[in-house]
Amino acid sequence: ALTDNQFHLLYQPKVDLKTGLIFGVEALIRWEHPQYGLVSPVRFIPLAEESGLIVEIGEWVLRTACTQNRAWQAAGLTPISVAVNVSPRQFEDKHLVEHVAYALENSGLDAGHLELEVTESSIMRDLARSVATMRQFDAMGIAMSIDDFGTGYSSLSALKSFPISRLKIDQSFVRDLANNPDDQAIAMAVISLGHKLNMKVIAEGVETEQQRDFLRDNECDEMQGYLFSRPVKPEQIDNLLRQQMSGITIAA
Ligand code: C2E
Ligand code: MG
Ligand code: MG
Repeated sequence: ALTDNQFHLLYQPKVDLKTGLIFGVEALIRWEHPQYGLVSPVRFIPLAEESGLIVEIGEWVLRTACTQNRAWQAAGLTPISVAVNVSPRQFEDKHLVEHVAYALENSGLDAGHLELEVTESSIMRDLARSVATMRQFDAMGIAMSIDDFGTGYSSLSALKSFPISRLKIDQSFVRDLANNPDDQAIAMAVISLGHKLNMKVIAEGVETEQQRDFLRDNECDEMQGYLFSRPVKPEQIDNLLRQQMSGITIAA
């Protein structure tokens, strides 16, 4: 798929809940298979993990996402940050820091406009090593966030020592947020935990106005989800940013 150019990236806007403005995007990989059509990353990323091919794919994602973000800037759009998912095996790879540094250098993107998303379970596999890797990224000026927060088993005592700028409340807690008191309690606890540790909190999978209102009322900082936009092609991000610059805010 890599050699035949069958992969492409879509980008999903991340929106500030106070201002309604796009401040970043998450890069999400897609595989357009000549026979099977569009294959979901949920299907092929675990296989790529198992086979180790994720390292090469991940390198391509990093390069492509950094290059795209630099291109938006070069087109005169408001600078935003691009978030790239890093899976467990990639996170353990001893060349990851090099790959990231290369992607930045090659694209000319400023480190402050790249963010890496890792999961809790990925971090907890080898805690000492993960912290060392995260510190390296932090020193390079790259932001890190914990994806799917609440679904793994983070050590809360370790969390405070992580150079993490953002917690992403997992979709599974957002889905029934409007009606389920347990999910409401969990979301509020994550928001409060994140803020007390000086982190921003973003909710993923926000699909309804009720979910958004609950999050906003409970001081969640940011959101991402179909309510605002699905993952879209780079040209559409271009359009959204242009609309934003001309003062039209899309009902967030
Ligand atoms: P993730 O990083 O947690 O990404 C969020 C997933 O939720 C994405 O699925 C996104 O399309 C979807 N989503 C966004 N908003 C909504 C919503 O409002 N409702 C619902 N139901 N879903 C929403 P996607 O693109 O299929 O990706 C699935 C997972 O595959 C990602 O979860 C991530 O773990 C992995 N993945 C995707 N791209 C990459 C990549 O480039 N590298 C690596 N290592 N993993 C990737
Ligand atoms: Mg993610
Ligand atoms: Mg997630």
